[in-house]
Amino acid sequence: MLDANLKAQLAAYLERMTQPVEIVASLDDTKASQDMRALLKDIADASAQVKVTETRGGPARTPSFQINRPGQNTGPRFAGLPMGHEFTSLVLALLQMGGYPPKVDEAVLQQIRALPGDYEFEIYVSLTCHNCPDVVQALNLMAAQNPRVQVTMIDGAIFQDEVNQRQIMAVPTVFLNGTHFGQGRMTLEEILGKLDTAGAARQAEALSAKEPFDVLIVGGGPAGAAAAVYAARKGIRTGIASERFGGQVLDTLGIENFVSVKETEGPKFAMALEEHVRHYDVEIINLQRAKALRPQDKLVEVELESGAKLKGRTVILSTGARWRTLNVPGEQEYRNKGVTFCPHCDGPLFKGKAVAVIGGGNSGVEAAIDLAGVVKHVTLLEFGAELRADAVLQKKLRSLPNVDVIVNAQTTEVVGDGQKVNALAYKDRVSGEDKRLALEGVFVQIGLVPNTEWLKGTIELSKFGEIIVDARGATSLPGVFAAGDCTTVPFKQIIIAAGDGAKAALGAFDHLIRN
Ligand SMILES: Cc1cc2nc3c(=O)[nH]c(=O)nc-3n(C[C@H](O)[C@H](O)[C@H](O)COP(=O)(O)OP(=O)(O)OC[C@H]3O[C@@H](n4cnc5c(N)ncnc54)[C@H](O)[C@@H]3O)c2cc1C
Repeated sequence: MLDANLKAQLAAYLERMTQPVEIVASLDDTKASQDMRALLKDIADASAQVKVTETRGGPARTPSFQINRPGQNTGPRFAGLPMGHEFTSLVLALLQMGGYPPKVDEAVLQQIRALPGDYEFEIYVSLTCHNCPDVVQALNLMAAQNPRVQVTMIDGAIFQDEVNQRQIMAVPTVFLNGTHFGQGRMTLEEILGKLDTAGAARQAEALSAKEPFDVLIVGGGPAGAAAAVYAARKGIRTGIASERFGGQVLDTLGIENFVSVKETEGPKFAMALEEHVRHYDVEIINLQRAKALRPQDKLVEVELESGAKLKGRTVILSTGARWRTLNVPGEQEYRNKGVTFCPHCDGPLFKGKAVAVIGGGNSGVEAAIDLAGVVKHVTLLEFGAELRADAVLQKKLRSLPNVDVIVNAQTTEVVGDGQKVNALAYKDRVSGEDKRLALEGVFVQIGLVPNTEWLKGTIELSKFGEIIVDARGATSLPGVFAAGDCTTVPFKQIIIAAGDGAKAALGAFDHLIRN
């Protein structure tokens, strides 16, 4: 199953196991079971600490396997082959069940062990989804720490009946004790926050008690991370509060234009940002969403949705941007029931089906090219008279046999049967005719909106909602600076956001020494 190189790597990793694990597999004679049997043999061959046993016809999904400590049956289960992006999840599950300590704060581990209930998680993934492994790994880590947490990763491509029955049209989708728990990327802390609300209230109190920061950064994408590094290097008290450290790069698959890094993947880049920030004396306050900014005498207060109030002598706003939505009937109703924003993640769920991509810019055309290799048919709709993507992408798109391009198309409705999408309605902007396409998936790729709604009325924004900044990153409020995609700075790119963050930090430092 594994090639020689992967086998050698696996053996090297599994050397870190300090205690035995038992893998119990539920298999039959299908091709998927045979592949799983071969994979488990490779794992057993890679470490003397691993023993594999096989069962037939039990209550567990087939094919699946569970990684247990001897004499227990509460370890993480994989239903489907954890290859592709999930191979790391498999290796980590083996290591953690095999006694290798996870790289997580002891306080978080204690919180997991003290969770008050019994939790049975089911997580639906696709093996091409780059957001799924984080959620699988977070849940598996919880299962390894607390026997009252049970987790099954389910490959939607293998368990199609379940996917259809549960109406799953986006991954990762998580069920807890049989009911929908969440969808999309979730961190360990986010999951814990949802399960342990008393812990969140305690944390808000502790945050409010913090001394004012010299520089308080709101937003942890490339702009915020660069600002944090620059501010901390000046030796001033720096804090960075963000809803999701990493920002948009977490949703990016390949990055090839950050000068000096020839190519990397978004989540890897985000990890490197965090590592660089942690190298300095910066307080990272993650999973906190700001809801209000209030200038006070010599300080600026930032109120978080948790109720916590942080203070800074200067503040840098770097809250970035998010996917723009169509704002047509049916879009919200059928979100994750056919309407989706992540072609890399959700494409495999539409295998053999017809889909539309809305938006003819680079991201829309790239999405259509990707999807054409997976789904039956792609229709790309562009509002304008022509596509706006780079010529090389357009050429590739037009060479594909299962793609149609419709220009001058104004999407008017996402249509469904109450459960999931079954059509898309649009108006031909030239003839004025109303038209309809029968399909099962709609991938929206029409750009981004700045995350600045919470600042309306406090700070000067452009008509597009971007924070207006000057050449030093200063905003209309003294002591408040801004950087990156949430500002009027043209060209929204990682390297530009990072440079902008550095500039805002230097602007804030200059402000501090002058005042
Ligand atoms: C799919 C995709 C692919 C891309 N590919 C590339 C590429 O290949 N190369 C390239 O150069 N650029 C690429 N980009 C663009 C690039 O990711 C952005 O320009 C860059 O991430 C902007 O950085 P930022 O720090 O300004 O904002 P973001 O990355 O958006 O970060 C914003 C931060 O603010 C936080 N935040 C938002 N609101 C709040 C709030 N109210 N309170 C607290 N925190 C908040 C967010 O959680 C996040 O931490 C891509 C973008 C996408 C979506």
